[in-house]
Amino acid sequence: MSRSSSGRPAHGPLLVPVAELRRRVGNVDEVEGAVALDGAEVLGTRLADGAEATVALRLEALSDAVVITGEAEAPWEGECRRCLEPVSGMTIGDIDEVARTMPLDGELAIEDDRIDLTEAVRAAVVLALPMAPLCSDDCMGPDPEAYPVTVEDKADDDEAPPPDPRWAALSELHPDE
Ligand SMILES: [Zn+2]
Repeated sequence: MSRSSSGRPAHGPLLVPVAELRRRVGNVDEVEGAVALDGAEVLGTRLADGAEATVALRLEALSDAVVITGEAEAPWEGECRRCLEPVSGMTIGDIDEVARTMPLDGELAIEDDRIDLTEAVRAAVVLALPMAPLCSDDCMGPDPEAYPVTVEDKADDDEAPPPDPRWAALSELHPDE
């Protein structure tokens, strides 16, 4: 498909050859590689445009398919949800795919004895992007006095709830009952 056969493109798709792997059922291959991804954004967090994802994959040959499992890791950047300062980190997504020459819904294709894993890697790292990153776990935001961060702590409060004021009102209405 590619017209150039000399050298590997710096930002090409992640094509994993499987001809050798598929010679025998049960064959296992381990592949490490890198692929540049286009930018993608989830709320306040994004993959940098051209960010390079690194992958560590395990491929196993079945009689009519190849099972691909592993991890993909890519850098992200965004803003702290409390103080809005820039933050960055690494997202690590799980890869769990099946590839066939005649793929079913949701499966990858084996074409020319190769599997293109670019989209599977992108989906895995985008799914693992943090939706509300923090610059640090104890970030108090720009104005902790005005916006105290206590909502989540209150949910764990196991003290007895205060008496319902309606009962108090009733007992005042009928002091002798
Ligand atoms: Zn912050």
